Amino acid sequence: MALLSTTDFPHQIVETEGFAHKRIDLHSHTNCSDGTLTPQTLIDRAVNFQIDVLAITDHDTVAGLDIAQKYIEEQNISLKLINGIEISTAWQGFEIHIVGLNIDTNNDALKTLIEKQQQAREQRALSMGEKLAKCGFPDVYADAKEMAGEGSITRAHFAKVLHQQGHVNTMQQAFDKYIGKKGSKGQRAYVKPNWCSIEEAVQAIHHAGGSAVMAHPIRYDLTAKWLRRLIVHFSEVAGDGLEVVLPQMNPEQRRKMLAYCQEYNLHASMGSDFHYPNKWSDLGRNLTMPVGAKPVWAQWQ
Ligand code: AMP
Ligand code: MN
Ligand code: MN
Ligand code: MN
Repeated sequence: MALLSTTDFPHQIVETEGFAHKRIDLHSHTNCSDGTLTPQTLIDRAVNFQIDVLAITDHDTVAGLDIAQKYIEEQNISLKLINGIEISTAWQGFEIHIVGLNIDTNNDALKTLIEKQQQAREQRALSMGEKLAKCGFPDVYADAKEMAGEGSITRAHFAKVLHQQGHVNTMQQAFDKYIGKKGSKGQRAYVKPNWCSIEEAVQAIHHAGGSAVMAHPIRYDLTAKWLRRLIVHFSEVAGDGLEVVLPQMNPEQRRKMLAYCQEYNLHASMGSDFHYPNKWSDLGRNLTMPVGAKPVWAQWQ
């Protein structure tokens, strides 16, 4: 993986081979985790939005990638699919998401980590179900499990079921009242997950030949001091890049993330974190690599 200097990217549109003048979105979900669209429907939507390069990055699973790639080939679609994953990790009591991009999904180290993460998800889901039963909602686990099907079971499924069963008015309220972690212990049905470390996630992604990118650094509710500590740790364990462009980021946040990239010699990634169609964000919308950033795809030449 050759590293290129910032001076290689003087233009707004990055002239990296194969990615010049492309519409790129490197963070999205399907119903193989907590997205609502099937891999096929997500690809159709990406085509409608004229996306050229799309990474599917489901939570702790790569199950959607083969389905999407097969569909792309069958339908003769020109979209380039980047094999991705979003791995949940634990660091200093925080849950930090690490996105793996351009990974070999058949790599054994990655497969082993995915297996471990799936067990952690299943265990947490069972405990969460028990806690919710004690809150007076005995049927949430079964419905959440059914909704997740063969895919990764997430708190988003639990939030949706709590909403559908009429126990909360919004999905956000499910997190605020029951399954979220605000404060030291979390809400009544919060269960501390048994995620891998950041280092384990980065190493598995590297074994699989991919780039490890810290997902949405602005969304962890960290003070500036803790965010810097996190970025220092991430770069010490050989993390490759930060997501510097998300749809809802303001220019000041974007500038700060870019400054961290430059200070710690990290690449930059960008993605919508698309889960379902809504009016605030969509695939590829408001995503432009800033001047002076080293795009993560420079590692893939
Ligand atoms: P999990 O990875 O199982 O902990 O599920 C977390 C997922 O729930 C995230 O990836 C989001 O898609 C979704 N989510 C929605 N609202 C919230 C919230 N307030 N806090 C945490 N996760 C949320
Ligand atoms: Mn999610
Ligand atoms: Mn995330
Ligand atoms: Mn995501």
